[in-house]
Amino acid sequence: MNSKALHSLTYGLFVVSSFKGDRINGQIANTVIQVCSEPQVIQAVINRSNLTHEYISASKVFTASILARETPLSFIGGFGFKSGRDVDKFSGVGYKTGQSGAPVVLDNSLAYIEAKVISQLDVHTHTIFVGLITDADVIKEGEPITYAYYQQVKRGTTPKTAPSFIADKKEDKATMDKYECSVCGYIYDPEKGDPDGGIKPGTRFEDIPDDWTCPVCGAEKSQFKKL
Ligand code: FE
Repeated sequence: MNSKALHSLTYGLFVVSSFKGDRINGQIANTVIQVCSEPQVIQAVINRSNLTHEYISASKVFTASILARETPLSFIGGFGFKSGRDVDKFSGVGYKTGQSGAPVVLDNSLAYIEAKVISQLDVHTHTIFVGLITDADVIKEGEPITYAYYQQVKRGTTPKTAPSFIADKKEDKATMDKYECSVCGYIYDPEKGDPDGGIKPGTRFEDIPDDWTCPVCGAEKSQFKKL
């Protein structure tokens, strides 16, 4: 079996949110799809160890906010590489409470969908939550981000087997080394810098201030390894 075949699957990128009692949480998910249109039903696939899984299981509702292509890495990282058990992921984030009672992310979202769980299926590490759509709205016009765009362009993690990766590495070797975050796999590319984090394109990793942190997961600069 060649598992690389799975890399050809395409996905979007969403914040899936829910609540439990007076607490709210959300997480990045790439597995929200529409299942049928009459009635309108969607599904979200969520890791069973995640806090959002616990909240959806408790409240039986979830929302999916569809992220725009220009969503900053730091925003995705805030919902993706942290746990709601440790931090309040909605702190500093624009959101509203949906009709379902679950939060709806408004920052960087093009649209949102609210759903009530009508069925669920446990699949080893994950649960497929199937939800009847109870509300939905468009927030702004724009192009939704895809999982592939996030991986290749935003995170800069071109697969190591790709010819472009080897070529880039050779060319840049003298002064412009790329560094990889050992926590999340984000790759710092000096040519691109980290404009969202105030690092101009063309800045060598060595010249980045020591208090700079990984734009994806927040890890310290010392956690980076030269590629
Ligand atoms: Fe990181």
